[in-house]
Amino acid sequence: MRYSALKVLKEGLTGHKGWKPAWRKPDPKAAYDIIIVGGGGHGLAAAYYLAKKFDQKRIAVLEKGWIGGGNVGRNTTIVRSNYMLHENEGFYEFALKLWEKQEQDLNYNTMVSQRGILNLAHTDPQRHAFARRGNSMILNGADAVLLDTAGVRKICPFLNFDDARFPIRGGLWQKRGGTVRHDAVAWGYARAADMRGVDIIENCEVTGFDIKDGVCSGVQTSRGPIKAKKIGVSVAGSSSRVMAMAGMRLPIETHVLQAFVSEGLKPTIPGVVTYGAGHFYVSQSDKGGLVFGGDLDGYNSYAQRGNLPVVEDVCEGGVSLIPMIGKARLLRMWGGLMDMSMDGSPIIDKTHIDGLYFNGGWCYGGFKATPASGFAFAQLLATDVSHDTAKAYRMDRFSKGLMIDEKGQGGQPNLH
Ligand SMILES: Cc1cc2nc3c(=O)[nH]c(=O)nc-3n(C[C@H](O)[C@H](O)[C@H](O)COP(=O)(O)OP(=O)(O)OC[C@H]3O[C@@H](n4cnc5c(N)ncnc54)[C@H](O)[C@@H]3O)c2cc1C
Repeated sequence: MRYSALKVLKEGLTGHKGWKPAWRKPDPKAAYDIIIVGGGGHGLAAAYYLAKKFDQKRIAVLEKGWIGGGNVGRNTTIVRSNYMLHENEGFYEFALKLWEKQEQDLNYNTMVSQRGILNLAHTDPQRHAFARRGNSMILNGADAVLLDTAGVRKICPFLNFDDARFPIRGGLWQKRGGTVRHDAVAWGYARAADMRGVDIIENCEVTGFDIKDGVCSGVQTSRGPIKAKKIGVSVAGSSSRVMAMAGMRLPIETHVLQAFVSEGLKPTIPGVVTYGAGHFYVSQSDKGGLVFGGDLDGYNSYAQRGNLPVVEDVCEGGVSLIPMIGKARLLRMWGGLMDMSMDGSPIIDKTHIDGLYFNGGWCYGGFKATPASGFAFAQLLATDVSHDTAKAYRMDRFSKGLMIDEKGQGGQPNLH
């Protein structure tokens, strides 16, 4: 069923009796050509592009919980392509271009809102670093504008410009960045993949891999064994756990990241704003809530909830940057699992086991990558050739010294 204004009108006039479920609830079959483990944004996008762009058939997505229950429905919805390193910038710009066409492509309102993203600079060296990053973005085909203090004031007059310790010296503005409604992305890809014959199987946990003589030929699940010619693992925060079942130890640690939403306010924050003197980023949802976040909780965990010291730290960052939000009440908060890689960049690669492919290491920036990650993983699964923009995301880059360390932090996953 295609969605359209006419359809909404017709259903509105006839008592909304004609809507069908957005995707089927099939039972697992005994065998598929391709299985994707993990029904988050990346897994669902991969399944969609496999069916749509790479003409693959007999595809299943196996999800241990429900669609939208993982990080895809827990993030702060920010999309952007403001990276500096060539290996990252091309990939994230590819993603942003796919976001720009996503709603028409999926026939689904994912609320893509290119309201802009503003990274604030509080020192001259920070502004110089932003100039360098902006040049790199432009060379890779993205948009970037370096702002002075007056330029920032025009966009966000309510910021704390004259803070004695961290005055605002300017910022890097990417107009095409913004937000996308996170769980709608999962629903949109699930529906569009289902329409192309993909079986989306919820409540189906993968509990083991059938590996013999270096070849993976299927998975064990909570709903029985399933055979497949190729298996792609895309489980984000559960990457280390799931790949351990295939005997692999990944260069990834899982950490908790929290997100926060305030009570609804009148339109205040025009786009996404990130603080350059602390870890705080904020946007405003269409319902009026301020959606914000900060740093990781700082220790390894698989628990999808966070702790109070980080709540305090994030709120302090927010109030020092935008003093007026001290009056807003915090409505809710939650945590998600971050698959933090050692250099802060992702992995999209085959493994040393034939038929087993891996997509992960998204750290806390994987939502914005969703369409490009799905596309690149689909291409790899269908053709065994990496997508041009994802060639550097190899699994062996750590042993070969080819790290993609965007922040220059070294091998400390919690700092990326
Ligand atoms: C609080 C927070 C804020 C964030 N903010 C941003 C942001 O603003 N911008 C941005 O770009 N990124 C952000 N991120 C990161 C982003 O959400 C993730 O990197 C991205 O969603 C991960 O990919 P995914 O959607 O496929 O993950 P998920 O939705 O987590 O999908 C993985 C799925 O695998 C399933 N799974 C796990 N184990 C198994 C198994 N054994 N069998 C079957 N299924 C299994 C899980 O149930 C899960 O549904 C944020 C994350 C959090 C938590």
